[in-house]
Amino acid sequence: MSATIIDGKAFAAKVRGQVAEHVARLKGDHGITPGLAVVLVGEDPASQVYVRSKGKMTVEVGMNSYEHKLSADTSEDDLLSLINQLNNDPGVHGILVQLPLPKHLNEDLVINSIDPAKDVDGFHISNVGLLGTGQKAMVPCTPLGCLMMLRDHHGSLSGMNAVVIGRSNIVGKPMAQLLLGDSCTVTIAHSRTKDLPAVVRGADIVVAAVGRPQMVPGDWIKPGATVIDVGINRIDAPEKGEGKTRLVGDVDFDSAVQVAGAITPVPGGVGPMTIACLLANTVTACCRANGLAEPEGLTA
Ligand code: NAD
Repeated sequence: MSATIIDGKAFAAKVRGQVAEHVARLKGDHGITPGLAVVLVGEDPASQVYVRSKGKMTVEVGMNSYEHKLSADTSEDDLLSLINQLNNDPGVHGILVQLPLPKHLNEDLVINSIDPAKDVDGFHISNVGLLGTGQKAMVPCTPLGCLMMLRDHHGSLSGMNAVVIGRSNIVGKPMAQLLLGDSCTVTIAHSRTKDLPAVVRGADIVVAAVGRPQMVPGDWIKPGATVIDVGINRIDAPEKGEGKTRLVGDVDFDSAVQVAGAITPVPGGVGPMTIACLLANTVTACCRANGLAEPEGLTA
């Protein structure tokens, strides 16, 4: 039996459509256009690609996009002063500082200088605390996207055993908090977990966020389980020609698809949901800033 493929590309398009509808309502009924400011420091090629597609999709859903490109040798003071300016700009509802930052800049300091209400990445310590205590927070985009797909597939997640592999601040830990918030019994596995295969075999939901190509084989998966593959890894693909590469997840898709009940592919699974959730968070931040009703189904 082959698993249901959870189509993140289609789901993300649906989320962007809902965001666009809400943006149109904000403009038409209240004369407010949500604005997202993205700050990029340096010339990291992958970051440039992300920032470009974020800007493009922001405009596509009808929001204002503000891109701030700073040179790699920008001082911490200059970056903090830009963030302060954006914090105080009423036309900016969301601020995202593209990570990683050049080594001479203190990421924690920079992230924690963003107004938590505009922290659409959900990395500010206040948002981490709010999420951890079950309060209204800005939720990190990738785990939020995973949660949306799980809710869409299952309806209620209550009582399910969930295993999150990876304990990073941007994916693993917030993912675990969200699943706990939806009343799953949550295990966080990591590089020191003993007998990872046995831990994963107990899971109704597996979220893999490690960064190791195809490390989770199908025989670790409980038959019928739902597998959310966050990993994005580039590997050699000699079958496509010399020097060619392809993207794979942290799960060995070909074997896992035979056992799982549902699975996200890579590419086309979690990846597209991340930007869609960034746009959703920006609309949410805009509604909260203006004391208006938040879009339904686009928050945790
Ligand atoms: P990270 O490097 O910060 O964290 C990786 C985690 O994996 C660590 O907590 C570590 O303990 C755990 N780990 C390492 N080796 C392990 C092992 N052998 N067994 C079990 N656990 C192990 O990575 P991250 O930022 O959380 O990203 C994880 C993956 O998700 C990467 O491939 C990244 O590219 C991808 N990612 C995708 C998106 C998206 O939009 N789809 C967003 C963020 C990250």
